[in-house]
Amino acid sequence: MSCNYAEGLSKYENKGVLGVPEIFDTDELVEQKCEQLAGMMLASGHTVIHTGAGVSTSAGIPDFRGPKGVWTLEERGEKPSVNVAFEEAIPTKTHMALKALVAAGQVQYVVSQNIDGLHLRSGLARDYLSELHGNMFVETCIKCRRQYVRSSPAPTVGKKLTGNVCHGTGKNRSCRGGHLVDNILDWEHDLPENDLQLAFMHSAMAELNICLGTTLQIVPSGDLPLKNKKYGGKLVICNLQPTKHDKKADLKISTYVDTVLEKVCKRLGVEISPYRPEDDPTKHVPCSLEWGIPSGAVKKVDKLYDKMLKTKGKPLKHALGSVHADDKQELKQNCKKLKKDPVQDEMKKESSP
Ligand SMILES: [Zn+2]
Repeated sequence: MSCNYAEGLSKYENKGVLGVPEIFDTDELVEQKCEQLAGMMLASGHTVIHTGAGVSTSAGIPDFRGPKGVWTLEERGEKPSVNVAFEEAIPTKTHMALKALVAAGQVQYVVSQNIDGLHLRSGLARDYLSELHGNMFVETCIKCRRQYVRSSPAPTVGKKLTGNVCHGTGKNRSCRGGHLVDNILDWEHDLPENDLQLAFMHSAMAELNICLGTTLQIVPSGDLPLKNKKYGGKLVICNLQPTKHDKKADLKISTYVDTVLEKVCKRLGVEISPYRPEDDPTKHVPCSLEWGIPSGAVKKVDKLYDKMLKTKGKPLKHALGSVHADDKQELKQNCKKLKKDPVQDEMKKESSP
């Protein structure tokens, strides 16, 4: 359950802005905005979706900072009343819509802050997904770094030993009994490097970044959707509460994300299939699907990213040199240094998982 996840994390004082009232656009305004969003998606050659806890609330998993969120209630000494077990939750209309939009070529990549594994369970392929804060249904080998999908959520959080051992085989890379840990980041953990690098490059290359169900308070995840701004990319935010970057959004839609996705898919002629357990890797027992991102996948996107920088990232007047050099440097600093940077640390104090 989401509470077990939250309780499993170490103590952390500043959890960001909590419990701000939700806003709802009128039905008429929602229609207009969804029409506009569908048009923006049709015009975009590279669309990246950024998901937060708000895409899973309709599956019965509470969010963190909403009026009934885990951290909001924690402040009052309460717990969410609706809270299903992770293995009992099923992917929402939004998760299934994103899988369909990727298949239809309308969405090129999904970046998620969620650890509930619902993107994986929707059947969305790993090639299209970065999971920045981990996944409940994945274990990682501390020796060879292989990742495995499991049929049930890990018993621990915070990268602790699960008691299982690695059976990885393969040319030059067999692993003799490396210990496995859960794949859930705690507050101070570094973000997974390949996931972050792919998320960073796709976000920068995006002609359109669309944020769904996140207040964008976490760093660096919450700042990635802005990475395309200097190359002329657009930002759309769909969230019930105000977010940290509303002022920078080209469009803000305030209603349920499931409603937005349903309307947009209809306008784009994309059919949303229902969840099918046979497409859910966690339902395949024994489940041993490898879930790591191969380094070749990062190199492939890096080439596209370089190409984009060459065409769009013309050296601009900037205190530290060209935009190109800045971005490349930031990317190379990787997750570890992003978090160690004092400015980022300062920002991180306003934020959380
Ligand atoms: Zn191993």
